[in-house]
Amino acid sequence: MSSDQHGVGPEIGTGGECQEALDTLYRFLDGELTEDRRSAIQAHLNRCSPCLEAFDFEAELKIVIARRCRDQVPDHLRSRVAQALVEASKTFDGPV
Ligand SMILES: [Zn+2]
Repeated sequence: MSSDQHGVGPEIGTGGECQEALDTLYRFLDGELTEDRRSAIQAHLNRCSPCLEAFDFEAELKIVIARRCRDQVPDHLRSRVAQALVEASKTFDGPV
């Protein structure tokens, strides 16, 4: 029996990191990630402002939602988040 590495790791590279960061955004904010994972994402945010902004905004939105106790999520907030995510993905998607 050999414990070869199974391809568990995500493909980290240009863009892949952003994709993953945005992918785990909700779990990150919900505290569902392991510490390792969190620090990896955090490290990425430190050098990737599009992702940082997306996370930042979503974090604020979460607070608003929590305060409202699932009352209602303002549509303009939702679309701002969606827009931020789209812009973030544009950043790594297009050729430089
Ligand atoms: Zn990024």
